Amino acid sequence: MDFIAGSWADPEAPDGAIEDRSPADLSLLLGRHPWAVSQADAAVAAAREAQPAFGARPAGDREQLVRRIGAVLKDHEEELARAIALDVGKPLWEARTEAQACSAKAAITAGEGMKLVSPFPAPGQPGAECRFRPLGILAVLGPFNFPVHLPNGHILPALACGNAVVFKPSEVAPHAAEVYTRCLEQAGVPRGLFNLVQGGPAVGAALAAHEGVDGVLFTGSWAVGQAIQKANQGRTKLLALEMGGKNAAVVLADADLEKAAYDVLFSAFVSAGQRCTAASRAIVVGDARRFAQRIVQLARKLSIGHPLDDGVFMGPLASPAALEKFERGIRAAEAETLLDARRLRPRGLEGCYVSPSVHFVGQRRSSPYEREELFGPDLAVYPASSEEEALQIANATDYGLAASVHTRSEQAFDRCQRALECGVVSWNAPTVGASGRLPFGGLKRSGNHRPAALWSTLYCSAPVAVLRGDGAFDPTKLAPGVTWVDE
Ligand code: NAD
Repeated sequence: MDFIAGSWADPEAPDGAIEDRSPADLSLLLGRHPWAVSQADAAVAAAREAQPAFGARPAGDREQLVRRIGAVLKDHEEELARAIALDVGKPLWEARTEAQACSAKAAITAGEGMKLVSPFPAPGQPGAECRFRPLGILAVLGPFNFPVHLPNGHILPALACGNAVVFKPSEVAPHAAEVYTRCLEQAGVPRGLFNLVQGGPAVGAALAAHEGVDGVLFTGSWAVGQAIQKANQGRTKLLALEMGGKNAAVVLADADLEKAAYDVLFSAFVSAGQRCTAASRAIVVGDARRFAQRIVQLARKLSIGHPLDDGVFMGPLASPAALEKFERGIRAAEAETLLDARRLRPRGLEGCYVSPSVHFVGQRRSSPYEREELFGPDLAVYPASSEEEALQIANATDYGLAASVHTRSEQAFDRCQRALECGVVSWNAPTVGASGRLPFGGLKRSGNHRPAALWSTLYCSAPVAVLRGDGAFDPTKLAPGVTWVDE
């Protein structure tokens, strides 16, 4: 169902319907969600009506709403986590961390986030100050892999800054989006200020290009980010685009290899490789083949199963389409296969389960496998003869989101961090780490220089330079050539 102007309803004249089946067991129907492109117009109209009054409220009131939403999200963490786990196949332990991140985002937004957009004076210039104003109506388009946490990461700052929101979640996770929206409704979000429209690319495209939308906050693939940019050419709409990654773990010769193997294993296969920050490449200075064999040995032992079962590390991929895309990608890998992906049926379940794969890239070909995002549980291991060569391989991609460096030397880490063309660099830690208290975004095809996380309040508001003059006229302060005469 859609949530528009404070009411839940299906579209009166649907263009289609999403049949939401869990990838854990394709027979489990989580819901049927009729959708219509025209709902974009209805939601934008509701948002337009609600925004001016809310945008004029003091920042403290808006922060309070965000804190209230955070409290309701906290109360519903388990419900949210189960919805996420069933909708996209994430194991429950991992879905719980996603649900917890949502209430944490409320506190960070109302605290540190809003400090970034507090008015400040111009030093040495009395009466001059910077104030911040809302942009207006923001469309939030979400990805499937963090179906609640990442949209929430745009939605709460958007509201805190005085905007109204239209949220179109991933068509893979309409159920989780509905549970999330009910939390906002329970928190008392004013009518029309937050709206949910279900649907896929057609609804997303209609919203992104909508004349009544002032900004698009998008998390998803580079290809769709490009389409959104093209659709908005010649317009002044704000576009905050958080896109894909082709991330590298750089393992230097002095690293603790067992720790590096654990970090790489985790980075490559957590969320079944479906994270924008997943390590899809390990670049090893030293005995790369031995490192690759160690990963193969450990990957074979990973527990793969139903997301609600205990002790499961990896659930299914998020949908049959995601599974087929992944399989096509690795079939085209022009590299030595050390561990082949196999479809699995844990407990006899008919879901989107696949085992991890590992490849060894002895000879680099700059193939699509080496360059493009696979978004599944595959790791390519590259040998490198030196730190310089490892960095060159790491940067030989169109993406620039995350990387990790594994070394005992702080100097080597600092050198690598400066050389890596990425927005997130971890030292002796998995590539998939992120902090809500820091900016989060990527270079090159991974973003458009509008990092999210802590800095999301910055793209949800516009700075206004306010210059105050004298209220009273002083005839001694005239510009050269101006003669003041009595009336
Ligand atoms: P996607 O690009 O296929 O879809 C994202 C959203 O855009 C969905 O809601 C979809 O319905 C909508 N959409 C599709 N076509 C559209 C169009 N023409 N106009 C407007 N909207 C449209 O992404 P996905 O498969 O859901 O998610 C995986 C991708 O997201 C990966 O590339 C991953 O790296 C990326 N991602 C990036 C980050 C980040 O912070 N940088 C975080 C998570 C995921």
